[in-house]
Amino acid sequence: MVLQDLGRRINAAVTDLTRSPTLSEKAFDGMIKEISNALVEADVNIRLVSTLRKQIKSSVKFSELPAHANKKRIIQKAVFDALVDIVNPHQTPYQPKKGKSNVIMFVGLQGAGKTTTCTKLARWYQARGFKTCLVCADTFRAGAFDQLKQNAIKAKIPYYGSLTQTDPVVVARDGVEKFKKERFEIIIVDTSGRHHQEDALFAEMVEIQGAVRPQQTVMVLDASIGQAAEAQSRAFKETADFGAIIITKTDGAAAGGGAISAVAATHTPIVFIGTGEHLLDLEKFNPQSFVSKLLGMGDMQGLVERVQSLKLDQKETMKNITEGKFSVRDLRDQLQNIMKMGPLSKMAGMIPGLSGMMGDMNDDEGSLKLKRMIYICDSMTAKELDSDGKIFVEQPARMTRVARGSGTSVREVEELLTQQRMMSGMASKVKGNMKNMQKAQGAM
Ligand code: GDP
Repeated sequence: MVLQDLGRRINAAVTDLTRSPTLSEKAFDGMIKEISNALVEADVNIRLVSTLRKQIKSSVKFSELPAHANKKRIIQKAVFDALVDIVNPHQTPYQPKKGKSNVIMFVGLQGAGKTTTCTKLARWYQARGFKTCLVCADTFRAGAFDQLKQNAIKAKIPYYGSLTQTDPVVVARDGVEKFKKERFEIIIVDTSGRHHQEDALFAEMVEIQGAVRPQQTVMVLDASIGQAAEAQSRAFKETADFGAIIITKTDGAAAGGGAISAVAATHTPIVFIGTGEHLLDLEKFNPQSFVSKLLGMGDMQGLVERVQSLKLDQKETMKNITEGKFSVRDLRDQLQNIMKMGPLSKMAGMIPGLSGMMGDMNDDEGSLKLKRMIYICDSMTAKELDSDGKIFVEQPARMTRVARGSGTSVREVEELLTQQRMMSGMASKVKGNMKNMQKAQGAM
């Protein structure tokens, strides 16, 4: 998504201001203006941008800042909070309960990515121990059932649909009833998104909703929708009253800000984002993590989630993070996991500082960089690997030895240690959050 450029621009505006020797109010206003322009160019709704402007101005109150205050921190925090507010509707989405039948109905226009996302979400819940299934109530588009069936078979998820029944309401009702009897816990219903017949589409949605009485209705929005997102999401909200949004195709070239603006237009949370065509390309959405990632500050929780879902070897690291620690060895293990996790460009953003370090590298160059980082770790002693990295500061000769042993430079070793320090700092912050997350997962 072009949001990466947006993040870079916002970061540059904040950094330019906070680095300049004279931190004047005029320069501060200039920074807000630059951030606003960047957001508007990314298709974020203009009213939201104006609210953000006011919010940053009022939360910083530049002229009242005490001379000794850490202005940089205050400004960075104000920008961060204002950006989080754009994507945070302060509404908690429905949480499916174990042991119950949770019906989740998908709505959205044709081509938005509904059918693909239904299977992704089903797999997501399946991986978390829910008994999950899919119902295809799109009898309008020829081939919709076939598509869902293929996806479902690939993901080993039970499915229901009909090649002969043309009434989507009947198919939806029969499918949900059948799976409820079979005690399925997550029943996902895909619906039609027919184009150019909005009245018929909306009438059908309401009828299906009445027939299956979903615990949650999810609207699927294509990230490339631009400024049209507001009107479209309002129309869907008025008819189908969805309780959650999933934005798809965030990996594409679209600016993405329009889709994000749907949150404010409908006071509805984004729950997931689609990041590719593959079954695993679905990320849980969290406003703070999203903004952290946008600003290149990393997303430790997202990373932990991803690692957990892939069931990679990460027991020790998880244990350390919950204790607020992150050793060099943890960094090495995570780098190795990243290599296993698919396209680097997708993962790098989750690691604090790594996206900045990778700069504009393509996936091949990035992989090489990661490999060199792993070579560095592999040239360390067990004591060094299990350390918090301070040992290298106290005895810099160790860095030279490791660089020589791994065929890299001292600068690269330093970079790696900076990375580990940053992760370690994040880990200590994540400590509390992780405990809550684990409690919540235990309760699921
Ligand atoms: P539906 O008509 O709403 O059911 O849309 P589909 O699920 O058939 O998706 C339309 C197209 O978008 C398909 O080619 C999908 O592979 C593609 N698609 C869906 N989600 C994503 C995503 O997150 N990223 C990318 N790149 N493509 C996606």
